[in-house]
Amino acid sequence: MSLSLDTIHRAPKALLHDHLDGGLRPATIVDLAREYGYAGLPTTDPDELAAWIRRGADRKSLELYLETFVHTVGVLQERDAVVRVAAECAEDLAADGVVYAEIRYAPELSTERGLTLDEVIEANLEGFRLGAARAAAAGHPITMKVLVTAMRQAARSVEVAEAAIRWRDAGVVGFDIAGPEAGYRPTRHLEAFDRIRHENFHITIHAGESFGLPSIWEALQFCGAERLGHGVRIVDDITVAPDGSVHLGRLAAFVRDRRVPLEMCPTSNVHSGAAGSVAEHPIDLLRRLRFRVTLNTDNRLMSGVSVSSEFQALDEAFGIGLGEMEWLTINALKSAFAPFDERLALINEVVKPGYARLKAEESRVALG
Ligand SMILES: [Zn+2]
Repeated sequence: MSLSLDTIHRAPKALLHDHLDGGLRPATIVDLAREYGYAGLPTTDPDELAAWIRRGADRKSLELYLETFVHTVGVLQERDAVVRVAAECAEDLAADGVVYAEIRYAPELSTERGLTLDEVIEANLEGFRLGAARAAAAGHPITMKVLVTAMRQAARSVEVAEAAIRWRDAGVVGFDIAGPEAGYRPTRHLEAFDRIRHENFHITIHAGESFGLPSIWEALQFCGAERLGHGVRIVDDITVAPDGSVHLGRLAAFVRDRRVPLEMCPTSNVHSGAAGSVAEHPIDLLRRLRFRVTLNTDNRLMSGVSVSSEFQALDEAFGIGLGEMEWLTINALKSAFAPFDERLALINEVVKPGYARLKAEESRVALG
C-alpha cells in the first residue's frame, strides 16, 4: 500500500540540501520585483512565472538549469527582500512538516546593490528567526540553520568561508561550494576549505552531480567534505553483475564504509539531466546498499517540488513505506551539522514518536 500524501505530510522530516534562491514563492518574486524596480521578469503573473521557471529548469543540463536563478537572485539584492524570502522559506517548510532544515545560500549573489557578505548572512538568519517564530506560533515548530555557499566559478571563496565562520554562533552551521561542476573542480577552492577545517567547522560540497568520480574524490580526500551534495555519480564506481552481485570500487567503498552522507535530490537530477527519471535514479540502488542516503529538494521552485512531494515520488517509484521514510529522516539528522544534543533531541523527542504514531495509525487501518 502506498503512503498517502496526508501521512507523508504529517510525518516529521529533515532537509539538508535546499537553496534559498531556489525556493521563493512566485508571488513574492513578482512583489519584490515591483518593490525594488527589477525589470527583468518574463511575466508578472505568478502562475505563469512559476511555469516559465519550471520549463526553464527542465532542460536536462546543469548549466541551463542554473540559468533560471537570474530572476530569483535579481530580486534578492536588498536586506528586506532577503529577510522576507528567508522567513517565508521557514514557514513553507514548517507547513510541509519539516522539523529541521539547513538552507544554503551564496551571499556573494546578493551584493550587486552594495550589501556586504555579512549583511546578507545577517538578513538570512533574521528571516529564519522570524519565519520559525511564526511557524511555531502556527503549531509547526522548525529548527532552521544556514549553510553559507561560495560560487565555484567565482574567486571569493576564502572571503565567503571567513564570513561563514564569523556567523557560526548565530545559526550558520557549515560551508559549501555550488555552481557549474565541469571545469571547476573543488580543489580550486582549497584555501577556503583549509580555513574552515582549521576552525573545526563543517564542509559539504556539491560533487558528483553532473560530473563524475574525480570531483567526489577531490571533495573528500583534498577538501575535507563531510557530506556530498548529490554525490549521485558514486554509482559510476559500483558494478552490478548480471547475477545481482555487487562490487564496490575503492571510492564507493570508502563512501559507504565511512558513512559519508549523500544529499540526494532525485527530481532535481531528472531536470538537470543527471538521471532519466525518479524510477531510474541511483538512489534506489544506493539505499538498498545502505549508503548513508538522505532525501532532499535542492530547488523547490525550479523543480516544482516540496519535501513531501519528493517522498511521495520515492514511495511511488520504490514503495519505501513509513519505515524507510523514518530511516531517511534519521539519516539526515545523524548527518546534520547542528550540535549533537540538538539533533539527538529531535530524533528522540520528535521523529521517533512521530513515526511511532503514524505506524500505529497505519496498523489500526490495516486491522480495519
Ligand atoms: Zn544544490
